[in-house]
Amino acid sequence: MEKSLIINGLVALVGQDNVSTVEANILEASKDYIGFRRHERCEGVYNVARAACVVKVSSTKEVSEVLKFLNENKVPVAPRTGGSSVTLGIEPLEGGVVVDASNMNEILEFNEVDMQLTALCGTPLLYIEQYLNERGYTTGHSPQSQPVAQMGGLVATRSIGQWSSLYGGIEDMLVGLEAVLADGEVVRIKNVPRRSTGPDLRHLFIGCEGTLGFVTETTIKIFKFNPADRWMNAYEIDGTEVGLKAIREIIVEGYRPAVVRLHDPMEVQMLFNNCTTQGKALMLFVAEGPASITKATGEAVDAIVKKHGAVSLGTKPVESWIVHRNDVSFDMDKTSDQYFKMGLLADTCEISASWSQIGEIYKAVCARIPKDVPNAAFVGGHSSHSYLNGTNIYFQFALMAREVQYAESDYMSVIKIIMEETLSRGGSIAHHHGSGRYRTKWMPQEHGTSYPLMYKLKESLDPNCVLNKGVIML
Ligand SMILES: Cc1cc2nc3c(=O)[nH]c(=O)nc-3n(C[C@H](O)[C@H](O)[C@H](O)COP(=O)(O)OP(=O)(O)OC[C@H]3O[C@@H](n4cnc5c(N)ncnc54)[C@H](O)[C@@H]3O)c2cc1C
Repeated sequence: MEKSLIINGLVALVGQDNVSTVEANILEASKDYIGFRRHERCEGVYNVARAACVVKVSSTKEVSEVLKFLNENKVPVAPRTGGSSVTLGIEPLEGGVVVDASNMNEILEFNEVDMQLTALCGTPLLYIEQYLNERGYTTGHSPQSQPVAQMGGLVATRSIGQWSSLYGGIEDMLVGLEAVLADGEVVRIKNVPRRSTGPDLRHLFIGCEGTLGFVTETTIKIFKFNPADRWMNAYEIDGTEVGLKAIREIIVEGYRPAVVRLHDPMEVQMLFNNCTTQGKALMLFVAEGPASITKATGEAVDAIVKKHGAVSLGTKPVESWIVHRNDVSFDMDKTSDQYFKMGLLADTCEISASWSQIGEIYKAVCARIPKDVPNAAFVGGHSSHSYLNGTNIYFQFALMAREVQYAESDYMSVIKIIMEETLSRGGSIAHHHGSGRYRTKWMPQEHGTSYPLMYKLKESLDPNCVLNKGVIML
């Protein structure tokens, strides 16, 4: 469809003021935080496809009408709320339309009896969290992108927060939702504590990254919040392997501290100002909830980690981490990007695996990157989300930056190693950032014989493939 016809059609639906064709607005709305894009932008390079326009939607009705129009005319759609994607998940296709729902920003219901809160998809998580804290509650959801992420994107990426060992990921918090399908049909999944009425349809949209529908409304659980009753402590321990064993024991024995973190010696040096004895790993714990539970959890954690040789560092490293944990720049210019200023191309990449494999993946990745990537500067990582059967590793890596034209290929040479070492040991190549477009090529191996199901769902819900083509599915 001709660009002018797309724009006229959208203006007729949402009004002139809500359709922008200004190049700067289109680029701003296409901005993804993946490491090599950050680096490119610092160098003034904008290697992204150009959308025809950005359309701001303000209601479910508008989302429905806009999607129906774009679907009928087979125009590619890039859904967007907070814009903190790190996977190329929000970049539009050439001539497509960015559908920005950040104006759908309202808490619709706060229900203290049923312990749930309903908000439109563009409501910022930080706003909801502050609203709840003032009333003695919390979402329990605290991703590092809390300052910018919004409900639609948080659900669509299957996000997880730093307090996950107690509260879980968004999939454990989301009670029900409303979504719009590619053809404009509005569907609602009602709010109930549990049900046994067929497959759980919430999961069509949790983690779909906008490929199966546009999430317009979300209902999440809320939890009592009393930070004064927290127990917290930091420890140094003899390396990642020992630390992983200690975490496994804590979880297997049935304890659920909210924060369970293990930072390897490289991260201690880079992020924690060498607060341990040289070469040691750092463990951070926070237990949250009623005082009797946090006290018991704290005593048990202390005893278990000390059995594994850990030495207490007191509460200071945890207190400092709580204060500074989200101190990341969401700007993308050379003066604010700390790695660019250091001549580095740096990022993170998160995977998960069972307890029996995770240590091997960590070791293999940390050994292979310096060997196979000539300009590797450092690699390390941490475990921050633990489960009964395994945990995640959040790799941190940096390369000595070369000329900007090599940024993407250099970056992907590191990602390839992490993907290969994870897949060969049966792990999952994306713990919480999603696939986006940059991990799509590994999705057949990730999903194996269940991958065709994804295409069957896509054919059924989005037969014209207008929603986020190339994300999760080729
Ligand atoms: C510094 C930094 C730290 C981060 N830390 C974490 C972390 O701790 N935990 C974590 O889970 N993630 C983290 N992320 C990743 C990112 O913040 C999450 O993926 C977040 O859930 C995205 O929310 P958003 O509103 O910004 O979504 P967007 O960036 O707008 O979109 C993300 C994806 O969801 C799709 N989408 C957006 N809105 C909708 C909608 N309404 N319906 C359907 N699809 C939609 C988009 O097309 C895109 O594919 C981090 C990112 C950054 C930059």
